[in-house]
Amino acid sequence: MIASTILRAPNARTAQPILSFEVAKDLAEQHGSPLLVVSRSKAIETYWAMKQALPGVDLYYAAKSNPDLHLLTTLNGENAFIDICSPGELRAAQLAGFTADRMLHTHPCKTDANLWECYQAGVNWFVFDNAIEAEKIRRLTPDVNLLMRLATTGASSRINLSAKFGCPMHEALEMLSVARAKGLRIRGFSFHVGSQCLNPHDYVEVLRNVRDIWDAATRAGHTLEVLDIGGGFPAPYREDAPSIESFGAVISQGLQEIFGDLPIRIIAEPGRGLCTECVTLITRVIGKSRRWELPWYFLDDGIYGSFSGKIFDHTDFPLIVENDGSRETSPCVVAGPTCDSTDIVSRDQWLPDLEVGELVLVPSMGAYAAASACPFNGLPVAGSVAID
Ligand SMILES: *Cc1c(COP(=O)(O)O)cnc(C)c1O
Repeated sequence: MIASTILRAPNARTAQPILSFEVAKDLAEQHGSPLLVVSRSKAIETYWAMKQALPGVDLYYAAKSNPDLHLLTTLNGENAFIDICSPGELRAAQLAGFTADRMLHTHPCKTDANLWECYQAGVNWFVFDNAIEAEKIRRLTPDVNLLMRLATTGASSRINLSAKFGCPMHEALEMLSVARAKGLRIRGFSFHVGSQCLNPHDYVEVLRNVRDIWDAATRAGHTLEVLDIGGGFPAPYREDAPSIESFGAVISQGLQEIFGDLPIRIIAEPGRGLCTECVTLITRVIGKSRRWELPWYFLDDGIYGSFSGKIFDHTDFPLIVENDGSRETSPCVVAGPTCDSTDIVSRDQWLPDLEVGELVLVPSMGAYAAASACPFNGLPVAGSVAID
């Protein structure tokens, strides 16, 4: 109910390709397809729009959403911080130029090797949410700074990220004393309202609960200095998303009202909200047929590739074809290139009669798309190039 009110707001944003068909044709000619095109200027613009919408909040880009080197290098150039979860993400961040002092390791359940390797590289901030993890950290890296992740529920989020991680709020104080008894340094709390959160008031509600725990922890003698409000910031797909400005304004006001009296550092871990719109996929129609009264189009990318977000991230990507305003459209099925029958990209988007060889642009391919693609069936994942 609330989400749909927000979606219809005049300040909603719509998914748009970051390049024209003309440029896409050149790039596909040069590099082949499928091809993911990263816009550096869009990344910079989005980063600063978010910084402005959340004044005073340090942004740790969640590398999980897209560890593409072009994107990481661009964000490093803007002095962004980065959220990593594994040695692989550590190396990607290092390669892009991020120094360890700008990294936060947010995985609540790490292998010994993961913890040790990142610690050895100089990462000094980690997250935990249970006693076993606290013990692991005491044993291997007792001198790190810790954030305790709290479980939350964002009612309007498409993807619940507290189903697997986060200490229940009612156990938080007990968990703090367990960690303190181990000599660990707990410096603050983190939470995640869930990904593709469509209602910023979800954050405000969580902030109130966290403030209660914060105060109780302070009374119990803990010295806290960092509040991490996680990710969750939405992006437009086939459905619009609230603007960065309007979404950030609500959170910002909530932070001011609920935590404004404390001299603390506030950080966020945006993944999707930062990178989704910076990447457009160029994919090509490689075949067509008529099956069960419907035109079928086969693309050179599908759900095992860049469209993997359709499965893992429940994303509905818009398909854009050339001159779509002036071509008559009809119901059709758009399929991916593998031999698997589940490799269907779309069944409900009306398209014109596509030619074999023509290009289709898919905007909003920045987050949880390439990141979870695999070369199933011996078909390589899409390459990536950056444009300004
Ligand atoms: C996935 C994840 C993020 C990024 O979430 P978005 O919804 O993409 O902004 C941030 N922090 C943690 C701990 C995550 O697991």
